[in-house]
Formats: sequence, structure tokens, C-alpha cells
Amino acid sequence: MTKEPRRPGRHFLQIPGPTPIPERVLAAMNRQVLDHRGPDFQELGKRVLKGVRALFKTEGPVIIYPASGTGAWEAALTNTLSPGDRVLMVETGQFAVLWKQMVDRLGLTAEVIQTDWRIGADAHEIETHLKKDKAHTIKAVCVVHNETSTGCRTRLDEIRRAIDAARHPALFMTDSISGLAAADLRHDEWGIDVTVAGSQKGMMLPPGLSFTAVSAKAVAASKEAKLTRAYFSWDDMLAMNEQGFFPYTPATGLLFGLDEAIRLIEEEGLENVLARHERLAEATRIAVRAWGLELNCRDAKYYSPAVTTVLMPDGHNADAFRKVVLDRFNMSLGTGLNKLAGKAFRIGHLGDTNELTILGALTGVEMGLELAGVPHKKGGVQAAMAYIADSAKPATAKAA
Ligand code: PLP
Repeated sequence: MTKEPRRPGRHFLQIPGPTPIPERVLAAMNRQVLDHRGPDFQELGKRVLKGVRALFKTEGPVIIYPASGTGAWEAALTNTLSPGDRVLMVETGQFAVLWKQMVDRLGLTAEVIQTDWRIGADAHEIETHLKKDKAHTIKAVCVVHNETSTGCRTRLDEIRRAIDAARHPALFMTDSISGLAAADLRHDEWGIDVTVAGSQKGMMLPPGLSFTAVSAKAVAASKEAKLTRAYFSWDDMLAMNEQGFFPYTPATGLLFGLDEAIRLIEEEGLENVLARHERLAEATRIAVRAWGLELNCRDAKYYSPAVTTVLMPDGHNADAFRKVVLDRFNMSLGTGLNKLAGKAFRIGHLGDTNELTILGALTGVEMGLELAGVPHKKGGVQAAMAYIADSAKPATAKAA
């Protein structure tokens, strides 16, 4: 077997999650395990359970499962719904497709509003659909906040207003797995009942934890809901979490990391974290346009601050291009998913990313386009640099 040569420098992990882990988070996790029924754990448990609420902008509980985001999806559905319940969903991309598959498997009845995978969920369509449901048999509206496959973000405030305008009592659930700590999210203000998120994206942690913010209305629904749940039952969790404990062995190592990740976000300031994501996303889009390539997201209103999905020119395979970038420049870009397979690649710009990281990534993309023989114009990196340099100037000195 031939041994791979050493690749000096660091690998550029520019997929939209998992994202690179800050040194301080890695160091925080490099610790001995502790008694998860003891006082030291209790202090940690109370601290992270409280700290994580601010990231969702909620005063209510946030449940932390030792599970990937998919586990939190399942928990959201099984805790609040009963067999056969109607659920309104919007097919914004691959993750909406997968969530819908779960709805089917659980014996719920999905009603799906289609999109072309190039926008977020449309509030008017949701309102129209709900208004037709005079008997209020639709029990939940489920939308993906940041569609990681398409690079489109749904405007959740508009969805809330649509549900209200239809005077519909359905629960409002959102998947913010790649949105948390990257895209503006206001669980309480926007009247979201269940928001699920994961550790391996904006939270800068390894995969393995999921987060679920739950409203009082969702908790009340869980008392009546008839779907079977066991491990993922919210009631055991909520009861034990009151004391800082968990009903089963928690992922202590990841919780040490979470504690530090929350501290990092607090130090930077959540609003600054979100603004940084918006800035790096804009720099990326500027580069893509300068290359003459097409953004998958076709309406600026829905641009994602976390990931940019780029369409390949006809006749060129996105995965062949990604391979060139990986082989030559040691950078991983996200693959196109489902109907975008081979047709698009994704640039992740979420988590522990800064101006120079994104410029490095864009440089790798521009050189990769050249090496892979993908038709494009030069100057994408230059254009992104100009934008980043301008946005780094003091407010008074910015170009008009
Ligand atoms: N939803 C979205 C928007 C995602 O980006 C992902 C993962 O990338 C998932 C759901 C699935 O989450 P997990 O892989 O953590 O189970």
C-alpha cells in the first residue's frame, strides 16, 4: 500500500458542517470524565443548560441530547404529535426531504409545499394552505431555517406572521441545525414552539449533541401527544435538567466543549458572531458572481449566512472539481446533495471562520476552477478582498 505523503499546514474544512473546532474548545474537552451524578457535573450541567438558551434567544428550556440533529427532529415530532396528525412542510431542499421521510415513517401525514430548491419557504403559501384548514386538523408547521443543501434561509419571522394571519393554532417547528449561532434566530420573539439544532455547525463542536428549544405550548402538547417515545421523551429530560442532571449518562466530554463554545460566543458577542457570518457570506457571493458562476439561491432575501451553494456550468461535474481542490489544495468543499449532486458545490462559511480563512478558501476555489478547466472569469478573490478590506475600515472611512 502506498503511503499518502504528509500534507503540511492545516486542512481547509470548508463544508457546511462539521466545522473546524477552536483550540480552546479542543483543550476544554481534553479532560478526565467525571461523576455525572456529582456536584461538579451538576454545576456544569446547570451552566450549559442556562448558557445555551441565550443562543436561541429563549427564556425557556433547551434540551440537550447526546444525538445528532436527526435525533432532535425525531424528538420534536414524537413528543408533540399523535398518529395520523397532519403536518405542513415545505420542501426547501434535501434536509426538508429527510425530515419529511421521518414524518412518513412515524405514521404522520405530511402535506408538502414544493419549491424549486432555490428559495426558502414562502410565507404566503403557508398562510394560504393554513387558511384552507378551517377545522385546524394541521397540527404542526415544520420548516428548515437554514437549508444546508441549497444555501437558502427561510425568514422565520414571516412564517410566524403567516401562521398568525391564518389564525391557525398549529405548532411552529423549525430545524435550525445549521442556523444556530450563524443566522439570526429568535425562538421566543418569533413564537417558535420547537427549534432543533446541532453541535457540529455554528456551535464549533464535534458532532454528537443536539439542542431543542421548546415553548410552553410545545410542552403542553407533549402531555397530550400519543406517538410513542422512550429515550427521547422530553418529560424525563426536563425534570432532571431542573437540577442540572440528565436522565441517563450525558456526553460529558462534549458538554465541557459546549461550555467553552458558549464562552467563546459570549466573548465575541452573539450579534457580532451573526454579523461576521453575514459578512463572510457576502464576500463569498461577491467572489462567485465575479467568477461568472451562478448562486443556487436565486433571491437575495433568502441568502444563507452559513453556506453558499454554487451551480456548476453545464457539462462540468462539481465532484470532479471538488476532487481537484482536495487533491491539490487540501480543502474540502461540500458536495451537491440529491438533485444537486454533481451539479453544485457548497462553500461553508460558518463557525470558527474569519476573513482570511474565507479568502484562503476562495483562493482555493478560484485556482481549482482553473485547474479543473471550469469556465470562469478571474478576479473573484480580488473582489472579495476589496469587500472585506472595505468592511474592515472604520465606519467613517467606508466607500460610499
Ligand atoms: N438538517 C439540516 C439543515 C442539516 O444541515 C443537517 C445536517 O447537515 C441535518 C438536518 C441532519 O443533522 P445530523 O446530521 O446532525 O443528524
